[in-house]
Amino acid sequence: MNIKFLGATETVTGSRHLIITEKGKQVLLDCGLYQNKGSDNETLNRQLGLNPSEIEAVILSHAHIDHSGNLPYLVKQGFAGKIYCTPATYDVCEILLADSAHIHENDIQYLNKKRKAQGLDPLKPLYTTKDMERCLKHFKPIPYDTKFTLNDEIQFMFTDAGHILGSAAVNITANEGGKLTRLCFTGDIGRSHDLLLKAPEKFPQADYIICESTYGDRLHEDAIGAETRLLEVVTKTCVEKKGKLIIPAFSLGRTQEIVYTLDRLKNAGLLPDIKVFVDSPLSTNATDIMRRHLSALNEKVQEYLKTDEDPFGFNNLVYIKEAAESMKLNSYQQPCIIISASGMMEAGRIKHHLRNNISDKKNTVLIVGYCPPGSLGRKLLAGVKEVKIFGEPHKVEADIEEIASYSAHADYNEMMEFLSCQQKDKVKQVFLVHGEDGAKIAWKQHLKENGFNNIAIPEKGQLFKLT
Ligand SMILES: [Zn+2]
Repeated sequence: MNIKFLGATETVTGSRHLIITEKGKQVLLDCGLYQNKGSDNETLNRQLGLNPSEIEAVILSHAHIDHSGNLPYLVKQGFAGKIYCTPATYDVCEILLADSAHIHENDIQYLNKKRKAQGLDPLKPLYTTKDMERCLKHFKPIPYDTKFTLNDEIQFMFTDAGHILGSAAVNITANEGGKLTRLCFTGDIGRSHDLLLKAPEKFPQADYIICESTYGDRLHEDAIGAETRLLEVVTKTCVEKKGKLIIPAFSLGRTQEIVYTLDRLKNAGLLPDIKVFVDSPLSTNATDIMRRHLSALNEKVQEYLKTDEDPFGFNNLVYIKEAAESMKLNSYQQPCIIISASGMMEAGRIKHHLRNNISDKKNTVLIVGYCPPGSLGRKLLAGVKEVKIFGEPHKVEADIEEIASYSAHADYNEMMEFLSCQQKDKVKQVFLVHGEDGAKIAWKQHLKENGFNNIAIPEKGQLFKLT
């Protein structure tokens, strides 16, 4: 079996790895979009580095767009096989890929206006809603811990990776003329003690591991104090300052974590009597999906469900889908909490809420997610006095607070804990992907110190023969 690394090599986006068996069968692990700030993602996403019609199947680790977002383009370019993922990943892909298609359609309109002014020909979007709908027909959900025979050479099984709803590590066994090769692709690895999700599951012994590296150089803050911290910020903003608390949050994962925390505070009688708005159609849909998969959540949530059957709903909590309802929040004068997407504050309705509230010192912006360098969130954390939103300057008068303990990615200790189910001397090689250079180098060092040998950091396009 050979493996060719086609994406997420130099960056944390564009996950795409190609398996080629001895008989020449090709199976693709993930088909994500490049989403790097400041790079030519449009070109990178169109260069697949493979022939889609020759790919027999795609095995998808999870629904995040940097892992699934280029699937509609793959289908559009001639891929005719099945896309295997867990049932929850399929549900999440339905909404995330629809959102992604919308973004591509809108972005291209904007780009083409500019091109027209420059006398250039218009471009077509990477894919459209129609392409996305065609792509969804190729999906075939397979539950966790179920061995699936793909062909006479390849069998695989998903194990829970605990990163987002439905996320999986992909465990492949190749049988090439009687020679067995076991490969684990970790996908993205979740936390050992996630608020909602189960801890990453032990996975079968592998000969080769393709491992993510996002936080290979980082240890997270302890999450135990997050609930208390959130209550402190709510009390200070909504009771003492009588202002609005604006929380930018990812639609899937972080939004439900915050809502669940507020639900717990409400049931404990600690939450002040204020309205809480989740203002994002995507977040509302993602919450509904999580409600359909409550059994996928961890033991603590299962315990909580015995006393409260909806951990994402309480009196005073309002989910907003319609734009008109969202706009009404601009004139809402009472203290309240507004949770909106996107988490990085680069797109979505959150930008409107920031524009309307950031210059009033009664208000607070609470940052609960990773903000990459150059993003609006990072600037606010750095304490800038003025920011540009929709091209207009706005004075930063609101308090800026942060709770840094929320994360969907394991830190290096948690990743090591995840790998501890392996007999290290049996692992022939570990390939590090999905990380910035510094994180990969640090993670390689930690792995070596913990007894893993032969660790490779593949370059884009590099081919490895798994012996
Ligand atoms: Zn992910």
